[in-house]
Amino acid sequence: MSSESIRNLIKDAGVVGAGGAGFPTHVKLNCKAEVVIANGAECEPILRVDQQLMEREAKNILRGLSLAMEASGAKKGVVATKSHYFGAVAAIKENLRDYPNISLHLMRSYYPAGDEKSLIYEVTKRVVPTSKLPADVGVVVSNVNSLLNIAQAVDGRAVTKKIVTVSGEVNSPATYEVPIGTDAYLLLTWTGIPLDIENYILLVGGPCMGRLTENLHFPITKTTGGLILLPKTHQYVLKRQMPLEKQIVLARACCCQCSQCTQMCPRNALGLNVQPHKAMRAIAQANGKLVGDPNAVLACCSCGICTNYACNFGLNPANIMAQLKIEFAKQGLRPQPEQSIVPDPAQEMKKVPVSRMIARMGLKKYDVPAPQKDAPAVSRVIIPLRQHIGAPSEPIVQEGSVVAAGDLIAMIPEKALGANIHASISGRVVKITSDSIELEA
Ligand code: SF4
Ligand code: SF4
Repeated sequence: MSSESIRNLIKDAGVVGAGGAGFPTHVKLNCKAEVVIANGAECEPILRVDQQLMEREAKNILRGLSLAMEASGAKKGVVATKSHYFGAVAAIKENLRDYPNISLHLMRSYYPAGDEKSLIYEVTKRVVPTSKLPADVGVVVSNVNSLLNIAQAVDGRAVTKKIVTVSGEVNSPATYEVPIGTDAYLLLTWTGIPLDIENYILLVGGPCMGRLTENLHFPITKTTGGLILLPKTHQYVLKRQMPLEKQIVLARACCCQCSQCTQMCPRNALGLNVQPHKAMRAIAQANGKLVGDPNAVLACCSCGICTNYACNFGLNPANIMAQLKIEFAKQGLRPQPEQSIVPDPAQEMKKVPVSRMIARMGLKKYDVPAPQKDAPAVSRVIIPLRQHIGAPSEPIVQEGSVVAAGDLIAMIPEKALGANIHASISGRVVKITSDSIELEA
C-alpha cells in the first residue's frame, strides 16, 4: 500500500492523537521521518489506559506502528514504555519477532517520560527546538492508542470508541472502553460514587496536566483518558483553585528565587532555556521584562513539575507560567527556535520518580489498579464536532436520520485541518447543534 493510501484511510477513519490534544494523524504522518516512536509511557500517574492496551493489543499496535512507518517513510520504529509495565512489555516482546525494524526501549518510572520532546531525547538523543515539530528532527511520535486506531483504520474501522480510566474517590476504580459521546457521569456511576457527590470535583485527564471541573456531565471524546473524582477540600484541588491574586501575593511573600523550579524543569534540562523562577520574579514585581528571553516562558510544556514537585514553598509556578503565556500571546510574542541547544549533563539525575511526585501531590492513595471491565450498553451519546486540533467538522446527517455505528456523520470542512467524525452507536439522530450531534439507540 502506498503511503498516501495509508494516510487517506487514516483520514477517512477520523484518527487523531489519542494521548494529547487530538492532532489529526493523517496530517502528522504527511512528512519524511527516519524513526516513528510508539509512546507507551502512560505519562500521567493513576491512569491505566495505555499499559493495559499494550498488553491486550500488542499485535495490532505493532501493526499500526509499522503502517505509520510506511506512511511517513521511516525505516525504524521504537516502542517506548516503562519497564515495570510487565504485562505490556511481555506482550510487545512476544510480537516483536514479526517486525525486525522495530525495537523496544524501556524506561524507568519517571515523569514526564511521555512528554513528546522528552521522549524523543530519551530514545534518539535529539532535541526538538522550541516552535519546531518532531518531524524537523526526523521523528514522529504516536500514542499506542492512536497506533491501534491506525491499524483499525486500514481494516476499514473508524474511531468510535475511547478507553478511559475512572479512579479517585469511587468504589471500584476501573477502565472502560465506551462509545465516543458517552456521558462521563455514566462511567462514574458504573464505578460507584459517594452519596454526597456534590462535595466532589472531577479531574479530567491526569493529575499533572488534566483540568478540574464541577460539571460531571460532558461527553467522552477521542482524547479523554481519565476521570478522577476528588474531594473539593483535597489539598491538590485547593492549590489548583487558589485565586491568581492570592498566588501573586504568595509569590511576593515566599518565592526566595532559589530556582529549584528551573533546576528541575524537564524543558530546561533539554537545553531549552525555560526558567520559571524568572516568571515568578516578574509576576511578583509586576514587571514582565524580568523574564528576559520570552522563550523562558513560551517554551514551557505545562508539565507541572515545578509546582507539583520542585517548589518547597508550595507555590504554583506552573500556573504563573500559564498566565504569562496568555499575556505574552496577547502582546504578539511568539516562541523562537534556539540557535544552540546544550542539554543538561545532569539530566538523568533530574528525572522525577512518579511515586515521589504523587506523594507530594497527596494523591498516592489513588494510585491503585483500575482493571479493564466490560462497559454496560450506552443508549444515548452526544458527539462533539470538535474533538481535535483544527476546524469543527460539518454534519452530513439531519435530525431524524438513521445511522449505524461507524457511519460517517460529520466531515472535515474543505481545505481545513480537522478530523472526520463517525456514529459511535447505532440509532437515530435526535439533535444537531453547532457543537454536537446527539444520537439515541
Ligand atoms: S517558585 Fe519555588 S522553587 Fe521556584 S524560585 Fe520560587 S521558591 Fe524557588
Ligand atoms: S510546567 Fe514548570 S517544570 Fe514544566 S515545563 Fe513549564 S516551567 Fe518547566
